[in-house]
Parts: sequence; structure tokens; C-alpha cells
Amino acid sequence: MPQPGPADHQYGPPPQQQPPIPPPHGREATLLPPDQQRGHQHPQQPDSTAFMCPYCEAVLTNPGAAQCNSCGRPLPQKGTPILRVQFPTGELKVSVGQHLVLGRDAGQSPVAATFTQYDNVSRRHSTVWLDPSGTAWVRDEGSTNGTFVNGERLPRGVEAPLRDGDQLRLAADVTGTVQLA
Ligand SMILES: [Zn+2]
Repeated sequence: MPQPGPADHQYGPPPQQQPPIPPPHGREATLLPPDQQRGHQHPQQPDSTAFMCPYCEAVLTNPGAAQCNSCGRPLPQKGTPILRVQFPTGELKVSVGQHLVLGRDAGQSPVAATFTQYDNVSRRHSTVWLDPSGTAWVRDEGSTNGTFVNGERLPRGVEAPLRDGDQLRLAADVTGTVQLA
């Protein structure tokens, strides 16, 4: 005789039982949600971290949207290339549509911690980004000591392409290797 009830689960997926585990008394302070443990912050500089439309550069309120809400063009979706720049003090990652300001001032650059130890890097030094075709670019933002690609100084404001393996140098101080996946 088939037995309805618990025996029916025998060949099915294991029951999703996750009984709540009450925290031991006195340890609540250590059981923060993961984003609090990482020191999650709410950045106050939307221009340097915001996702922008790669066509019209409107700031996207919803980066996952299929179309730009300003110009209506289709936006690149996830799975597109990523630009990485490996500096001795850290690796920077830039997605399509993201403009990343490099510099020493935390109010200007979300990655300022990578450059604070380099006195000759300007507060707002250069910007790197990735266009929808997967080409990476860098632009000097009027830095005092220059932005260099493979040893060649970029004129201020000029957009220069970056290729895999290029050496991106800020002032005389810090050189990063470009990696394009
Ligand atoms: Zn747009």
C-alpha cells in the first residue's frame, strides 16, 4: 500500500528546511548582514561612479534597463567586456558605460585610495571608460604631471584608445597594466 505523506519526499528534491538559528545570547553585535560587514557605503559622488549612457552620456537611473531613458538607444547588457587596469596598489574594473575617474581626491574619484600615496597624481587625473564596441579609452583631465600610454604623454582632454597590455601611467609615479577581457 502506498503511504501518502512524508514518504512521498523520498525521491523528490530534499526539503528546503532552513530552520532559523537563534543567535547565542550576547553575540548579536557580530551577526551583521554581509553588506554591513563590508562597510557598505552610499557614495555621494554620482558623477564618478554612475552608469551613463555610452551614446548621450545621460546618467542612467536604472543601469539594467534595455534602453536609455534619454536618447532611447539600446543599452549594452551584462556579459559585455570589462576593462581592468592592474596597478601595484589595486586592480580597477570598468564596465561598458561606466566612466571611472582616476585621482587622489576621494571627492572626485571613487578609487582615490589606489592613488593617495602618490603625491604627483592629481586630485582628478584621468578618466577611463569602455565604449559599447568594447574599445577602452583614457582621457587626461588636465592633470599637473600628465597621463601616459606606453610612455607617450596624452594632450589634455584628448581621448586615446587603450589596448590589452598597454601601460597606463599617471605622472611619474604609478603605472597600471591594461587588461581587456
Ligand atoms: Zn542615451
